[in-house]
Amino acid sequence: MASEFDLIARYFTHPAAGARLGVGDDAALIAPAPGMELAVSTDMLVAGTHFLPDADPLFLGHKALAVNLSDLAAMGAQPRWALLALALPAADEPWLAAFSQGFMGLAARYGVDLVGGDTTRGPLNLSVTILGEVEAGRALRRDAARAGDEVWVSGELGAAALGLRHLTGAHPLGEAEAAACLERLHRPTPRVELGRALLGVAHAAIDISDGLLADLGHVLDASGLGAEIELARVPAAPAVAGRLDDRQVLRCLLAGGDDYELCFTAPPGRADAVRAAGEAAGVGVARIGRIRAEPGLAVLGADGRPLVLEGRGYDHFSA
Ligand code: ADP
Ligand code: MG
Repeated sequence: MASEFDLIARYFTHPAAGARLGVGDDAALIAPAPGMELAVSTDMLVAGTHFLPDADPLFLGHKALAVNLSDLAAMGAQPRWALLALALPAADEPWLAAFSQGFMGLAARYGVDLVGGDTTRGPLNLSVTILGEVEAGRALRRDAARAGDEVWVSGELGAAALGLRHLTGAHPLGEAEAAACLERLHRPTPRVELGRALLGVAHAAIDISDGLLADLGHVLDASGLGAEIELARVPAAPAVAGRLDDRQVLRCLLAGGDDYELCFTAPPGRADAVRAAGEAAGVGVARIGRIRAEPGLAVLGADGRPLVLEGRGYDHFSA
């Protein structure tokens, strides 16, 4: 059987043009450009909690990196380097080849170098650390929303959560809709270009990993503010849009995780600049509401009355 070192050499050793030293030594050596801060984040994907143990390794490789890129996107940072810590039940080479293809394919698209990691035997667990650069003092922080800001989201919401409900049998979809939703669930697009384009335009930003209401709630808590959003303005994925009378589908839109779109705030006077940022990044942006000084998050229905909500999103410990 291949040794740990063979596996690292075969699947995880690639030229790291953007690092002083990549995989192979006791540590990698990297240097941020002058005037830039390092933005650093880690995300762990655990079999049985974040994905099914028999999930396609090509998708897992993509998603393990995508969720980390999304965190940097939400800071307005440019991803540069990644580390990958893997616990594997066995040295399954076809699995590793597919996983590596998914991971390295996305890394190449964003010019991210895999500069190190750890490989060990154990229950399947994928942990990625991402490092990026952002102009010093200019990152998009959760605590930077201001009263009067408008609230925006990128792309369309709800497809990933509806795709998961399709997979579990809770909400079977037709073939075309299922394919579209599963694509969003398995291969999210991190909004890196949008995050970069929003620097100097947006005040606060967050990526939507646990659901719009939960993640916007984090911005509100960190900023000590509240917000009002209009349901009719929240951009729904096509499979979701026609079914909002169904409470569970409405929940996918407002509280469904895994979309990895950005939610951000910007002053009303910067609406044109926000739209230009969306255009430059090739993604739609929709204005869904407003930040207000009074605490609390209200969602107004079509009749202008607040909806009664049963919770803000998906919480791993209290759901
Ligand atoms: P050490 O014993 O010093 O921790 P390892 O044997 O764990 O070194 O790793 C050898 C080299 O391979 C190191 O540079 C480490 O960063 C890298 N590495 C190990 N696993 C991975 C992986 N899954 N992806 C990328 N690099 C890895
Ligand atoms: Mg090690």
